[in-house]
Amino acid sequence: MSERFDSIIVGGGVVGLSCARTLQEQGARVLVIDRGRYREAASTGNAGMIVPSHIVPLSAPGVIAKGMKWLMNPESPLYIKPSANPDFVRWLWAFQQHCTEAHVAHGVPVLRDSILASLELLDAWCADPAFKTAGLAHTGLLMLHDGEKARKENLELAEQAEEAGLEIERLDRDATLALEPALRTAITGSVYFRQDARVDPEGLLRALDAHVQAAGVTILDGTVRSLQKNGSRVVGVKTEDGAYEADQLVLAAGSWTPQLTKGLGTRLLLQPAKGYSVTIPDAAHGGVDTGMHIPCLVTDQKISITPMPGGIRFSGTLGLQGYDLSVDERRAGPIRRHAALYCGEDTVAPIDTWAGLRPASPDGLPYIGALPGMDNVWVASGHGMLGVTMAPITARLLADLMGGKTPSFDPTPFRVDRFD
Ligand SMILES: Cc1cc2nc3c(=O)[nH]c(=O)nc-3n(C[C@H](O)[C@H](O)[C@H](O)COP(=O)(O)OP(=O)(O)OC[C@H]3O[C@@H](n4cnc5c(N)ncnc54)[C@H](O)[C@@H]3O)c2cc1C
Repeated sequence: MSERFDSIIVGGGVVGLSCARTLQEQGARVLVIDRGRYREAASTGNAGMIVPSHIVPLSAPGVIAKGMKWLMNPESPLYIKPSANPDFVRWLWAFQQHCTEAHVAHGVPVLRDSILASLELLDAWCADPAFKTAGLAHTGLLMLHDGEKARKENLELAEQAEEAGLEIERLDRDATLALEPALRTAITGSVYFRQDARVDPEGLLRALDAHVQAAGVTILDGTVRSLQKNGSRVVGVKTEDGAYEADQLVLAAGSWTPQLTKGLGTRLLLQPAKGYSVTIPDAAHGGVDTGMHIPCLVTDQKISITPMPGGIRFSGTLGLQGYDLSVDERRAGPIRRHAALYCGEDTVAPIDTWAGLRPASPDGLPYIGALPGMDNVWVASGHGMLGVTMAPITARLLADLMGGKTPSFDPTPFRVDRFD
């Protein structure tokens, strides 16, 4: 006989474990099945920025033109590998349909409210000393510019953010350096987003992992190979080692979520968007101390710099090129050179580049809600560049929907069937 749970969650990245935490708190007996949260998940090597500043969805006017221009540049921060795969073509079509002012006007308040609510939840989680490893710090974030284009881009974003009620400051070079004297990036100025914060994403994942297991959640290392259906319900899942039954199924498998929804009749519009990072330990861990404390985004090159407990991380690039996790050194080059600027080439050279896949939806909003056509299957995925930022509110919203409660805010923008 297979073991029975209230909820099975497929995927133990930051989104899956956050859902496990919230469902368990509501009294559910939860099983998480995950095959690689410390290996293939996007939730460990990412930039760890908690970003109210990112209220403008990725699908915004001008992005396609920028992507086309960058197509021919092997070191560009955005890369789209041409492909005739029908799922990819459908995704790209939906993406370009959403690169409009109207979509930005729709997306900004949705992202602002959900990101700020998520940060509040994260604060409450991290008040527990057991979450010390998450290293949550309310440092704000600097968007740096050097060239004129990046300056314009930052100032436009500052205007949008101000209109949306966020706390920002426009800084010249001296004011930026006064705030972050350890900066080495060439700049003429910046925009400071006061409400942004940072975490060590792997520290957060490990804290969540320990917390849910201590609270009684079972985490199983394994791959979900098949879902057992009975009419419009999934009654169980099979892994390589066994079978498990549950009343409810949550699909939180990051970029791999479409592989699971396909068998249930939904071709989820979601593409893996590859990014890289390089993490340099501090002097106490065999590296160097940079003195940086505020996370920064270098707008000219789309590189982020995140000081973390125990080191500093440089990350960037967005490649729509399938599930391949290998490192293309040409694309990682600008990130590694930036790391060398702060830490010295000799320190950076022996350190490997990490690659991860952001689960990207075409409109820059996650999928949180019921899977169409199924009575007991739920999706929590598609967070793109915002998975760490939005994991707590995703879990809250999903648990409310699963429990039949009135959610604290409108779940409509996140509906899984919104492209149908
Ligand atoms: C370079 C980079 C920088 C980023 N920076 C930030 C940032 O600063 N702030 C931010 O908020 N976000 C950032 N992100 C995005 C963030 O990392 C992701 O949105 C988030 O980690 C997605 O979490 P997830 O739990 O949905 O998926 P994942 O972390 O990918 O986890 C999915 C899990 O499901 C497992 N799985 C898949 N299929 C199966 C199966 N069939 N059976 C069992 N297990 C399965 C996988 O092994 C994996 O462990 C960044 C991403 C990248 C790549």
